[in-house]
Amino acid sequence: MRSEAPPPSPRQLHGFFFPLMAYGHMIPMFDVARMFAARGVKATIITTPINSSTFTKNAERDRLSGLDIDIQILRFPTEEAGLPEGCENVNNIDAPEMIPNFFNAINMLQEPLEQLFEEFHPDFIVADMFLYWATESASKFGIPRFVFHGTNIFCQCVEYSLNLYKPDQGIATDTEAFVVPGLPDKIEMTRLQVPDHLKLDSPFTEMLVKIRESEIKSYGVLVNSFYELEPAYADYYRNVMGRRAWQIGPVSLLNRNTVDKAQRGKQSAVDEHYVLNWLDSKEPNSVLYICFGSTSRMNNAQLLEIAMALENSSVSFVWVIRTTGNNKDERFLPEGYEERMEGKGMIIREWAPQVLILDHPSVGGFMTHCGWNSTLEGVSAGVPMITWPLFAEQFHNEKLVTQVLKTGIPAGAGKWQQWLETTEVSVHKEKIEKAIQLLMGDGNEAKEMRRKAKELGEMARKAVEDGGSSHTEFTSLIEELKISKKAST
Ligand code: UDP
Repeated sequence: MRSEAPPPSPRQLHGFFFPLMAYGHMIPMFDVARMFAARGVKATIITTPINSSTFTKNAERDRLSGLDIDIQILRFPTEEAGLPEGCENVNNIDAPEMIPNFFNAINMLQEPLEQLFEEFHPDFIVADMFLYWATESASKFGIPRFVFHGTNIFCQCVEYSLNLYKPDQGIATDTEAFVVPGLPDKIEMTRLQVPDHLKLDSPFTEMLVKIRESEIKSYGVLVNSFYELEPAYADYYRNVMGRRAWQIGPVSLLNRNTVDKAQRGKQSAVDEHYVLNWLDSKEPNSVLYICFGSTSRMNNAQLLEIAMALENSSVSFVWVIRTTGNNKDERFLPEGYEERMEGKGMIIREWAPQVLILDHPSVGGFMTHCGWNSTLEGVSAGVPMITWPLFAEQFHNEKLVTQVLKTGIPAGAGKWQQWLETTEVSVHKEKIEKAIQLLMGDGNEAKEMRRKAKELGEMARKAVEDGGSSHTEFTSLIEELKISKKAST
């Protein structure tokens, strides 16, 4: 499928933006594409038929406001990869056996991408880390490839150290804390919190090696964070790990008005004005927002613990519940729960306008699974957090929030889990309630976290303003690309 968008003018930079088909990757990559377009670059999003609906409405609105954004759609080879029809997004994967097939289907997109290079000759491509072959493909056409991990620099430094020094191997028990060596701060974790792919060899470990190699050979890395958030790690990444990186975030701050914030990602299950009115009726900093991202699958027993903790606590809340697999029938909610919570709590099913909610002055805390987008959106909103990591690099992000930034407290999740296998109750209601009380209460610790969170939120905003660190890094990147285009024409 081809878009009918006009070609860029001869002097205009043209970039391809190719995200992994997962909301936590597509959403920030789209913001990155829009940032480039706002600087006069023609931005082409590459995606698959079903995923394109995530972008079309917003891209249409952007075009009307004068941005040069178009979408190129590649057929996703579900059948060839042995995936069910329509399985084009990580969210559609519901069995561990489907994961390798999904990545095989992604790998089959290498040739169609090269056809697009042949046809459009873009000046650069920003491709998700999982599309490791994009570095090789781009180099065949002399095109610079940028890597987008979707995460921060801190967690890459932690993974680098865990990989290099294997500090967990000399530890007697799974629950004993050890220090991650060689890092700018004293970062403590336990073996149970280390992701499996760093402890055992698996096809995923092999893929990560390819990802690292392609990153080293790439033109550089675009990072959704800002220098002041993790300065020592940004320096470590550049000086010790030898990466070229541009910190250009928080990219979510590009969404300034209610429509942009409300329509980011999937269609929200509630009207944004309804949520805003509800939040308007609450005191400043009094509401806890609870959301575990776009792909987590919490089991019913764990959701019940959360429901009971929220009922027992006196704090108002907005809770996003995704109806997946085993919780589809919602039997986990106690009888009459929603009626009892009326006025105190709002339950949103499936998808909430997260950034809009976090930015509301009534929201005073965020219980998060520590996906990087959510974490950074919480930082940008100046909100302290209860950290509840589940899988991927989320435990590393928890350490950043609780041990470096000191704007959050752990809920107490002690064990890294496989993404599709979050079957255990990892935090019981008493612990959840205690964390809520501490974060939302008036104790000195809470006040200090609130103060630091507000300060960081201010710093995040300044970073993307004219003259701020991210704004400046982004400008220098665009200038570099312009010079390189001029030299090659
Ligand atoms: N998100 C949202 N509404 C929801 C759930 C998620 O807007 O109900 C957005 C959230 O703002 C973030 C992204 O989806 O931008 C989730 O990315 P993150 O890295 O936090 O977690 P993941 O979903 O990748 O685990």
